[in-house]
Amino acid sequence: MLYVQKFGGSSVANAERVFNVARRIADTYWKGNQVVAVLSAQGDTTDQLIQKANEINPNPSKRELDMLMSTGEQQSVALMAMALQKLGLNAVSLTGRQIGLRSSSTHGAAHIRSIDPERIYSELERNNIVIAAGFQGVNRYDDITTLGRGGSDTTAVALAAVLEADFCEIYTDVDGIYTADPHVVKTARKLDEISYDEMLELASLGAKVLATRSVELAKKYQVPLVVRSSMSDAEGTIVKEEAKVESTYISGLAMDKNVASISIIGIRNEPGMAYKMFSLLAKRKIIVDIILQSIGRGATKDIAFTVTKNDLPLAVKLLTDNRTKLGFEDISYDDRIVKVSVVGAGMASHPGVASMLFEALYAGGVNIMMISTSEIKISVLIDEREAEAAANMVHDRFFTGSAAIDARR
Ligand code: ADP
Ligand code: ASP
Ligand code: MG
Repeated sequence: MLYVQKFGGSSVANAERVFNVARRIADTYWKGNQVVAVLSAQGDTTDQLIQKANEINPNPSKRELDMLMSTGEQQSVALMAMALQKLGLNAVSLTGRQIGLRSSSTHGAAHIRSIDPERIYSELERNNIVIAAGFQGVNRYDDITTLGRGGSDTTAVALAAVLEADFCEIYTDVDGIYTADPHVVKTARKLDEISYDEMLELASLGAKVLATRSVELAKKYQVPLVVRSSMSDAEGTIVKEEAKVESTYISGLAMDKNVASISIIGIRNEPGMAYKMFSLLAKRKIIVDIILQSIGRGATKDIAFTVTKNDLPLAVKLLTDNRTKLGFEDISYDDRIVKVSVVGAGMASHPGVASMLFEALYAGGVNIMMISTSEIKISVLIDEREAEAAANMVHDRFFTGSAAIDARR
């Protein structure tokens, strides 16, 4: 059998954990399997590298930042190969380029274009354990790219698809996927199974247990995943096409801290204003999420919307520079907000989910700044200081105690 096993940063954070993971890989190998392990950088190495870059230049070129960030994974794969060699096994570490991972050109957020697994196959044929660097590839100019934060998950799933692996295991610091981040919501429950679609929604709304793109790829190539702990033998959560239905129609709660809101006050109440504003941002590849427009009163109206925290400075600059052209009165922003979302495919056929959410927030005295809904999710923007308490209250409302009965089918 061929296993792809991915180990995240906390799972390889120090020498002891590196050996813990090495023993797990060795166990799989000794049982007669082939193993391709994909690793992230150790602990918070990636954050430290970004910090280092900022000390030199607060606005570094994205190419050089990728060059620097990718070294984190290169360290951990070399160390893991050394640990396995110490255990008497043949292991070889490989970079993104060596595993043949070709990506698009967008530094910092590159998409995987193709993987040529020739080198991996030849190493496996020689009975080597392959330790592949996650998160990195090379673009058509042969420059190193990275796949966006959490991108080692994406490398692992892509490799599992290309190699037609029998198993794709994502090892992390929690023992599965929960109804909410178990580090924030104490009463979060572990799920046995979850569908690709629901996991996709949770991931894109901020549940970083799996990178969004890794779930997209898993769905596209029908790669069944298991998310489990590198520190225990507890059974994990299976992510697949059709998951068995849990007793509630809400599958989970997600929180996204990477949001900021911008308010444009007193924009002219006439056709084309939204187009002029948002095309300005789109040209610079700024993704706009929730948009709120007030009902025009007389000559003016207001528009508020959200972007990621990283895009905030550029978005504010573009709008401010074009203030006269756009003809608005004032601009303000807020980056101390959090988006809390409840997700569930069963929500579409159940009225009242929104009011349960609002009721839980009202009971906790939490003010809602913006609301956005789709068929399978409702998101609210709230003050970051209230985020943890709100997440717990909302989760309890839907998942625990007698109040949660309303949410059962
Ligand atoms: P790794 O370094 O292994 O990739 P990450 O930190 O990227 O780990 O992802 C694991 C973390 O995701 C957990 O520690 C947990 O805090 C967070 N998380 C957020 N939402 C969930 C959820 N619904 N279920 C499990 N973990 C979650
Ligand atoms: N080391 C990278 C990050 O911190 C990739 C990963 O952990 O998956 O985002
Ligand atoms: Mg991760």
